[in-house]
Amino acid sequence: MIDRPESLIIRPPSEWKSLLVRITRGCNWNRCRFCGLYPAMGQPHYSSRSLPEIKHDIDLLTERHPGGTNVFFGDADPLAAGMEIFTGTALYLREKIAVERLTSYARISTLHKLGSENILLLAEAGLNRVHLGLESGDPEILQFQRKGQSPEMVVIVANWLKKAGIEISYYVLLGLGGKNLSEQHIRATAEIINSTEPEFVRLRRLWLYDNNLEKSCPLWEQIREGSFIEQTAEGTVLEVQLLLSLLRPLNTFFACDHANNYINVSGLLKDDKEEMLREVADLLALPRKQREAHYRMVGSRI
Ligand code: SF4
Repeated sequence: MIDRPESLIIRPPSEWKSLLVRITRGCNWNRCRFCGLYPAMGQPHYSSRSLPEIKHDIDLLTERHPGGTNVFFGDADPLAAGMEIFTGTALYLREKIAVERLTSYARISTLHKLGSENILLLAEAGLNRVHLGLESGDPEILQFQRKGQSPEMVVIVANWLKKAGIEISYYVLLGLGGKNLSEQHIRATAEIINSTEPEFVRLRRLWLYDNNLEKSCPLWEQIREGSFIEQTAEGTVLEVQLLLSLLRPLNTFFACDHANNYINVSGLLKDDKEEMLREVADLLALPRKQREAHYRMVGSRI
């Protein structure tokens, strides 16, 4: 039998060098219309792992990657395992290695349920940063997409995290309002970013994998019946342009750090916003055929 640590299904690109520790398997929510990712990747059911199992993985990981100082917790919502397992894992890690940065995926609704006191305990256990699926700041879109969070909840949780000194990394999904609610999506998203000033905003574009398989993205159903009209490639670039133009010069790193994005601008909003807007305008100023060729070249992958 091969004794090896369990692997995560996905991780943020920025964690490619980190020790990847699996606390939970799959997603405990699994209802977002635009997702269905974990079932599609062979993890249809959620479960939480036990602390001894996780500690055993940490022993293996630290043996295999001596000198690793950054750690990332997955799968979708490791805090769903409960405070005891999450903080027990964090503390065990600190006994084993000199952790410089500990980050985790987290659902905003789970953090909201945990409350401010527990968030302070997470910081004490050494959690430095959470990767949060903001997706959109618009209540109508969040509800339609069954995200299970409201803009008010996001603001409350962001304030608790800031008070605890835990960095926030939001994911925003371009195209999540489809063609019809595009402007509404971006305006509300800008509002929430402006009011919460996260350390990072990372853009993704809505990409609906596999419209034929049994385990395809649930949103295909609304597309087939016509209640959701997909955003175009250029529409997502215009969304980047509108979002950037609405964002204040925040101390926030703005990044399009995924290969699916039709434009890849990045920089600190307070220093680089105008330069990023220029890059978007340069793409949009290209002749139509050239822009279309560019959009065709961009791949689609998870
Ligand atoms: S977007 Fe996140 S919370 Fe929603 S189903 Fe997918 S993994 Fe779960």
